[in-house]
Amino acid sequence: MEEAIEAKRIYLDHAATTPLDVRVREHMLPFLTENWGNPSSLYQEGVEAKSAVMTARKQVANLINASPEEIIFTSSGTESDNLALLGVARRYSPADCHLIISAIEHPAVFECAKRLFQEGYPLSVLPVEKTGIINLGELKNSIRPNTRIISMMLANNITGIIQPLAELRQIIRQIAGEQNILIHTDAVQALGKIPIDIKILDVDLLSISAHKIYGPKGVGALYCKKGTKLLPMIYGGGQERGLRSSTENLLGIVGLGKAAAIAQEEMESTQLKLKQLGGKLISGMELLCSDVYLIGEKHCPRLPGHFAIGISGYEGQSIHLLLEMNAQGIAVSSGSACSSQQQDTPSHVLLAMGYNVYESKGMLRITLGRFNTEEEIDHFLASFKKTLLTLRSINTRNNTRNNTRNNNY
Ligand code: PLP
Repeated sequence: MEEAIEAKRIYLDHAATTPLDVRVREHMLPFLTENWGNPSSLYQEGVEAKSAVMTARKQVANLINASPEEIIFTSSGTESDNLALLGVARRYSPADCHLIISAIEHPAVFECAKRLFQEGYPLSVLPVEKTGIINLGELKNSIRPNTRIISMMLANNITGIIQPLAELRQIIRQIAGEQNILIHTDAVQALGKIPIDIKILDVDLLSISAHKIYGPKGVGALYCKKGTKLLPMIYGGGQERGLRSSTENLLGIVGLGKAAAIAQEEMESTQLKLKQLGGKLISGMELLCSDVYLIGEKHCPRLPGHFAIGISGYEGQSIHLLLEMNAQGIAVSSGSACSSQQQDTPSHVLLAMGYNVYESKGMLRITLGRFNTEEEIDHFLASFKKTLLTLRSINTRNNTRNNTRNNNY
C-alpha cells in the first residue's frame, strides 16, 4: 500500500487548476461524438445542442442562486473579468468613468484596469489591511460622483482570504445613495468552495471559471444581473444575448454545467473534508517546524484547505522548497500559476498586505482538493520534514563557507 502512495504523485495546487472530475468527463463525452450540433441551428441537432446549453446555464445559475438568463458563457475567468470591466468602462468616456479595484486582484482584473488607466480612465486601487481585508476607510474615501464600477474579489487566489463582500456592498450603497455604482466580484477561487448566493452578495457582475471546480479548461461564465448594461468585447452572430458572439463551446459549457451541479450537491461534504484535512496539514506543519506561519491572520475567514505559508528563515527560498517537494512527487506552488514565469518577483498580494519584499518572495501555497486523502497529507508532512532538513543542511554549509570566506578577508 505504502508503495502505491510512493509511486503516485500528490497534487496540492488546486488553486492553480483542478483535475477533471470523472463524472464531468463522462457527461462531456457524448458531446464529442454524437451531440455535436450548433445550438443556433433550427433542426434536431441544433435543438438538442441548445437544450444542453440551457441545462448547463440552469446548473451554473443554481449554484449561485441566479436566473439562467443572467449567465453569459465565456472562454475563461480572465475573459469574464475583462468583459465586466471593459464592458462597463467602454460605455463611457474616460472622463466620465472612474474605476476602483482592490490592490490584491488577480492579473485578469489588475492588468485590465491598468490598460483602462493607460487609456485615460481614472483608477483608484484600494489598499488592504495586514489581514488581507480591504481597508474600509479607503473604500469610503475613494468613491467619486463619476465612479461607475468597483471590482473586489470574493476570495484571494494566493491567501484564500475571503472578503466581507456583502458588508462592503452595504457601505457602498450608503455612500453612493442614488448613484448607480456597479459591483463586480471575481469569484473564480471561491466558487464551489463556499456557498455563494447572489441575492445576499448583492453584486451586479461575478466571474466564474470551470477549471477551478473540476471542470474543463477554456470555459467560464459571467453572471450579469438583469438590467445591467455592458458593451460586448466580441462582435458577431449575437450569441449570449449579444454579449459574447461566437458559436458556443458546447463541450466546455456542458462540462461547466455538470461541474457546477456536482459542486452544489457536494458543497457541504467537500467543505467538511477540506477543513479536516487542512487542520491536519497545518497542525502537522507547525509541529514539524515552529517557524511556519500562516499568511494573513489565523482567525481570518479563508477558503477551506487553502493556505499561503511563510517559514521564518526560509523567506526567498520557496522555489527551492517547491522544487525539492516536486522531486519527491508533490505538487505545491510558490504563488499563482500565472506568475510562475516571474519566480523572483515578489507577490503583489503579500506586498499589499504589508509583508516586505523578501517575505513576499518566500511563500508556499498549498491548496487541497476534493480527491485528497489523509494518507496524502501524512505523505506530504513526511516529505516536508525531509525537505526542511535538506535545506537546513544546505544553508548551514553555505553559511559556514561564507563565514570562512569572510574570515579570509
Ligand atoms: N481570477 C482568479 C482569482 C484566478 O485565480 C484565476 C486563475 O488562476 C483567474 C481569474 C483566471 O481564470 P482563467 O484561468 O479561467 O482565465
